[in-house]
Amino acid sequence: MANGNTATVLRNVRPMGEAAADIVMSDGKIDSIVPAGSAQVAGAAVVEGNNDIVMPGFVEGHIHLDKILWGLPFRPISGGPELLDYINNEKRIRIKEVDVPVEVRAGNLIRQCVSKGSSVIRSHFDVDPDYGLSNLEGVLAAKAKYADVVDIQIVCFPQSGIMRLPGTAELMDEALSAGADVVGGLDPAMIDKDPAGQLNLLFKLAEKHSTGIDMHLHEASTLGAHTIEMILDRIEAHGMQGKVVIAHAYCLGELDHVRLKKLLDRMARNKVAIMTNGPGARPMPPLMELKEAGVPFYIASDSIRDTWNPFGDGDMLARVGMVSLRQHFRRDSEIKVAMDAATHQAAEILGFEDYGLAPGRNADLLTVPGDSVTEVVVTARERRMVFKSGKLVAENGRYIGPNA
Ligand SMILES: [Zn+2]
Repeated sequence: MANGNTATVLRNVRPMGEAAADIVMSDGKIDSIVPAGSAQVAGAAVVEGNNDIVMPGFVEGHIHLDKILWGLPFRPISGGPELLDYINNEKRIRIKEVDVPVEVRAGNLIRQCVSKGSSVIRSHFDVDPDYGLSNLEGVLAAKAKYADVVDIQIVCFPQSGIMRLPGTAELMDEALSAGADVVGGLDPAMIDKDPAGQLNLLFKLAEKHSTGIDMHLHEASTLGAHTIEMILDRIEAHGMQGKVVIAHAYCLGELDHVRLKKLLDRMARNKVAIMTNGPGARPMPPLMELKEAGVPFYIASDSIRDTWNPFGDGDMLARVGMVSLRQHFRRDSEIKVAMDAATHQAAEILGFEDYGLAPGRNADLLTVPGDSVTEVVVTARERRMVFKSGKLVAENGRYIGPNA
């Protein structure tokens, strides 16, 4: 099938469920999209698309490649009940009990994500004095190994806090010089009990390394809202508009309307983006209100099959369905909003370039049989084919790329 610089014609597919087309791909890019049956390229390989729906590869914008236990024997959840209990439980298990290296476990999840149609990934990795930079090294090794099948951005994530664990700040600084792309943060009030201290440090690191910031924020209600206001103060002071992502932000689902509206307007002005995975029995950001206010958001998996959470399988199509269910999205127009948040909007927020189903863009796409985009979101039917840079990397839900 598709290989090297030979052109490939993907024949008879329906872009986002619209009229059937042929997609011509070469040199890793989409050359043209023409009515079905009309593409004529001398010497091109032809792949039959079966009149399936074709979409751009998913943006898996938030996972933890170092935490993953995918591919290992199933391990019941043993942590909790408090956040610090989960944190300590994870470290004990990963340092003392799991002997499969990060590089191998990360590879297991990468292949799984690719088989479900993700073509780009943003992954966090834990950094603290007990791990040192070992998690970064493992994730970097997996990134290099699978460079032909997925593009990966890496966030250094202080899972155990920063201010409460001396040495973490210095390790984050080192990580950002050693291959990490983005500064991570975590619950500066709840974990560190020093919100100004943690946030000042994150913005200092981001300025020094010219990176964005990607915060985990689980802080509830008015505490979380206050932390977002503190983040906004610093974005305005440092000119970091469009460079800060806040993951979860459960608090946005708990505020009274007046405070929410005021906060969303200020977030929109500063182009602060929200990541949601459609959490379980927890408040979550009201996505349509974010959209109306102009706050960008995207959908991703976060924690799956690790010491925190047994659920999830890296399937972004299913994830779009879960988030839609939680948001009471039913109409095609609503499902489209969720689908955008797992594709185009996510690519734009995270800075993945040349993304989308259009000539000149990366030939990263998937095909799936179905009546419409909404129908395949509802069924999460298996992906028939997944292409990365014009090469077939998964077929019928099975990864067939390098290092299978
Ligand atoms: Zn996370």
